[in-house]
Amino acid sequence: MFKKILIANRGEIACRINRTAQRLGIATVAVYSTADARALHVRMADEAVHIGPSPAAQSYLSMERIIEACKRTQADAVHPGYGFLSEQASFANALAAEGIVFIGPNPRAMEAMGDKIESKKLASAANVSTVAGHIGSVSNGAEAARIAKQIGYPVMIKASAGGGGKGMRIAYSAAEMDEALERARAEAASAFGDDRVFIEKYIVNPRHIEIQILGDKRGNIIHLGERECSIQRRNQKIVEEAPSPLLDEATRQAMCEQAIKLARAVNYDSAGTVEFVAGQDRSFYFLEMNTRLQVEHPVTELVTGTDLVEQMIRIAAGESLALKQGDVQSKGWAIESRIYAEDPFRGFMPSSGRLKTYRPPKEGQSARGVTVRLDSGVYEGGEIPVYYDPIIAKLVVHAGSRPVAIEAMAAALDTFYIDGIRHNIQFLAAVMGNKNWRSGNISTGFIESEFPSRFMGVSLDRDLELKLLAVAGAMDHRESERRHRVSGQLTPRRIKATERRVVKLANKIYPIELTQNANGLSVVHKALNNALVVRSKWAPGQPVWQGEINDEFISVQVERLPHGYRLEHRGASVTANVQSERQLQLARLVPPKTVGKLCHDLRCPMPGLVVSILVTDGQDVKAGDSLAVIEAMKMQNVLRAERDCRVKNLRAAPGDTLAFDAVIMEFE
Ligand code: ADP
Ligand code: ADP
Ligand code: MG
Repeated sequence: MFKKILIANRGEIACRINRTAQRLGIATVAVYSTADARALHVRMADEAVHIGPSPAAQSYLSMERIIEACKRTQADAVHPGYGFLSEQASFANALAAEGIVFIGPNPRAMEAMGDKIESKKLASAANVSTVAGHIGSVSNGAEAARIAKQIGYPVMIKASAGGGGKGMRIAYSAAEMDEALERARAEAASAFGDDRVFIEKYIVNPRHIEIQILGDKRGNIIHLGERECSIQRRNQKIVEEAPSPLLDEATRQAMCEQAIKLARAVNYDSAGTVEFVAGQDRSFYFLEMNTRLQVEHPVTELVTGTDLVEQMIRIAAGESLALKQGDVQSKGWAIESRIYAEDPFRGFMPSSGRLKTYRPPKEGQSARGVTVRLDSGVYEGGEIPVYYDPIIAKLVVHAGSRPVAIEAMAAALDTFYIDGIRHNIQFLAAVMGNKNWRSGNISTGFIESEFPSRFMGVSLDRDLELKLLAVAGAMDHRESERRHRVSGQLTPRRIKATERRVVKLANKIYPIELTQNANGLSVVHKALNNALVVRSKWAPGQPVWQGEINDEFISVQVERLPHGYRLEHRGASVTANVQSERQLQLARLVPPKTVGKLCHDLRCPMPGLVVSILVTDGQDVKAGDSLAVIEAMKMQNVLRAERDCRVKNLRAAPGDTLAFDAVIMEFE
């Protein structure tokens, strides 16, 4: 077994690999860029080596620097994690030349599978079903249009070297072909340094289902069942689960057999994943093979009870697979939510900055057989740099059944509190509450069809409304108790008789009555004559209100506003303002604010680089027209006009680096 492993990655995955290595008694070396000098993965490892400046190309993607770090620390193996160098056969070869073991498959398997065009050829030769398309690179518009016409629209243009949902565009008609081709090629060139793209049939509303494979260096290959990853935005997964609600036993067997057939065809010898798109009718087609540890591997670990990183390490060290196919059993249901630094209220734009507050849910197993696991790469006070993927953590739960796992995930998300940067926790909570998700009626188009316009938060149903009214009433009561104590009254103020309040919740007005009794605080919603009993130890200033409402435990995130609170729960985000009836009457006398003018400029929605400006001074544009392309966090984002207008003044040019909210152009 290895004595020392260098982890050539950062963030949550570096921390996760570190944990298993240390558990196995193997010393660990972290590598870090300048931006990551104080990162969690550096703190966790036994040793750490600075490998270069912040941009990945000069640090995490630099083979020379990483090999140098291996030599300096005398590491005998390297785990590459996912992303960065994990799928570079040349990296595995370079390590081998120095006598260092690459913890991953043999370089020939990586080469064969690393390229989408090549792997599709191989799969089709191995009788694995593939998506109809042109298996070859396409570079000019005319050729692309001809191929697309042959296949039939819609088609997908995909980067052959692609990964992470990048370098991928859909064209629904010939008219969209040119822009789609150009964008896909530009993004592929920038993200992968390789602009080859190919075209295949776009399968409408499919599901993404993948098979986890493990192979050793002695020809043993097994599968660990499937994961479903259909909940995606920008073709990138955000919620994954195991098993898949779609599969029946026969389809599962057929997919697993094909996956093993493909793995065998390339003598696969590590953990790997064979990805498929599946129709709602359970037809399925090979997409690609990922020759590395997958972001969503924890759901498989939780249902099968296997540590995949441990398996990878043992296989790389030459051990034969101790697991036989018959030993692999899937138990219960696991769900993973990816917590990203991105703003779902603004089109999932990436966010970066300092985590002022970071309070994740507690890990562990509960009495009800629910396991909560957190794979995190950050800590309170730490930074989310702009240079890398904006993943903060992965929250994973396991339970006996899918409904219990969903409820456990929703409850854990309610307690997950992050402040300082934008994040997608409410959005994930909204997914957990969605009817179609709950019934397993999903597809890769789920987010677009369930959240078609901008995400505005979940709207309140009666149950949520009553609970949040009770929480607002109870918080206000606790705060007024506190005020009385601070103002010098010796005995804390108690409600003796019933007190009346008016709560303005999400701009609607509700009269309530509060009564303190032995069981807790009773909150009566007057119009409905519905009484809820609230018990909580919440103290003013705490960011998460936790307590029982009629014996049901709930968590609500609270932000103090100048006149009230913002409450967040199960994907709803509303303001609440509690007043006495007298205060409300006075407030009615204040004239309403006038609404501001329509926006007169285009601002940069995230810190980024201007790739191109697509309009000229004085040009008339229509709502929806492309105005500029901004690159941030490896993504090219097209900014479009929100209304018909005329461009008046260009304030930025290609090549400019812009701060958040910088003006790009003005409109007349
Ligand atoms: P998974 O399939 O494991 O969910 P994703 O496809 O979402 O993983 O990508 C995992 C991570 O690896 C992402 O951070 C993505 O940006 C990165 N990634 C994947 N392939 C490449 C590649 N070829 N080059 C650079 N980064 C990549
Ligand atoms: P990446 O390397 O970026 O992970 P994949 O080929 O695995 O690229 O595709 C990522 C996602 O894009 C899939 O999970 C699926 O949602 C979608 N996708 C890819 N190809 C197709 C296709 N031909 N039809 C429909 N959806 C597709
Ligand atoms: Mg993929």
